[in-house]
Amino acid sequence: MICYSPKLALDNQDVLLYSIRVIRRKIQKMNKLILTDIDGVMLDWETAFHDWMESKGHVRNSIATYDMHVAYDQPKEFLKKLVVEFNNSAWMCCLKPLRDAVVGVAGLAADGYRFGAITSMSLDPYAGKLREENLKNLFGDVFEFVTCLDTGADKDDALEYYRGSGMYWLEDKWENAVLGADLGLKSILVDHPHNAEYSDERIVRASTWADIVEKILG
Ligand SMILES: [Mg+2]
Repeated sequence: MICYSPKLALDNQDVLLYSIRVIRRKIQKMNKLILTDIDGVMLDWETAFHDWMESKGHVRNSIATYDMHVAYDQPKEFLKKLVVEFNNSAWMCCLKPLRDAVVGVAGLAADGYRFGAITSMSLDPYAGKLREENLKNLFGDVFEFVTCLDTGADKDDALEYYRGSGMYWLEDKWENAVLGADLGLKSILVDHPHNAEYSDERIVRASTWADIVEKILG
């Protein structure tokens, strides 16, 4: 025997309508959410790192590379430790914006876009706080979230959630731009000497934030 309860039916309907509203809001948010890397996209990590290294007496060569151990002609593990130290330092409060990032981000925010950051900076919670403050000071309240992964960590798991969403994904590391494209994201690669040699028809390039804004707003 099935007992029909009008009260229960109404509650279920309310729950259903509420769920639909939540899902609809999520979809609306995702349509206006831009996934982004931070270092080399929004912040000029590289210049700050070289300044920090110079302050410690390290000398670099002129090779354009993403790999800092090549730039400093030092063992990989040695440079990795220095990058970890830098990313956990007080310098994280005050990195400067990359190129015209402030104007570009403001332009997209004015059009209703929000940003979701996925940054392989550090798992240290206080370093993460400094990064959030740094971003907020420069760009204002434009972030839905700032996800900090371990220093130099892969982004496969963090991006997997957005597989097939067709969302924009801003990156400067070639491998991560390819990862985004493989997952069905619209990867925009920010030009740097270290990624100049690569190409993939699924990935568009942008040398400035004005380019990024034009590609997104049309
Ligand atoms: Mg980067």
